Amino acid sequence: MSDRPSFRDEIVNLLHSAHGNPLTHCLQCGTCAGTCPVAPFMDQTPRRIIAMINRGLKDQVLACNTYWYCASCYQCTVRCPSDIDIAQVMYALKRYSLWKGQHKEGLIGPAFAETFVKTILRLGRSYEPVLATSYLFSFGIQAFLDEAQTATSLMLKGRIPVLPPRIKRLENLRRVVNRIIPMGGET
Ligand code: SF4
Ligand code: SF4
Repeated sequence: MSDRPSFRDEIVNLLHSAHGNPLTHCLQCGTCAGTCPVAPFMDQTPRRIIAMINRGLKDQVLACNTYWYCASCYQCTVRCPSDIDIAQVMYALKRYSLWKGQHKEGLIGPAFAETFVKTILRLGRSYEPVLATSYLFSFGIQAFLDEAQTATSLMLKGRIPVLPPRIKRLENLRRVVNRIIPMGGET
């Protein structure tokens, strides 16, 4: 018998600090799917994602946009009759997807999340002009020009710093982040 954890075990391990019951407690009642405001845009509903994890369908789960479309509204979590923290499952799948470098093509979420973490590691703070590069070119030239105009106005009003801010004692933060996020460390 293999010592390697199954896909479900890996997701459960990523959920170890979350509240809620194990995924095996899912009744497949569909409350999460029925209550999710973005379910119509998902490749698979939250209910089906739980079932797919329980069946070990790793590649099929990672090929879905479901967890990247999750708006973290927690409606599913508070309504689940089995007390499963489904919103945290979605977060766990995002972390797992970045960790494995495996996700559906053409999504903004993975590049945005990766750019965000790298910016935090580099500066200690978020910096909007760098974050914007992860999605700015995805919506066409008009959207790019609109965003650039908004950013320029915000910079002129001092709402976005022209130069990236940098926190003190950045090394301490990097050490903490590198211990909890398996993204290959600072870039
Ligand atoms: S609401 Fe809870 S029990 Fe019902 S399908 Fe969703 S995860 Fe399973
Ligand atoms: S937390 Fe995510 S999966 Fe749950 S209802 Fe909200 S958008 Fe849907």
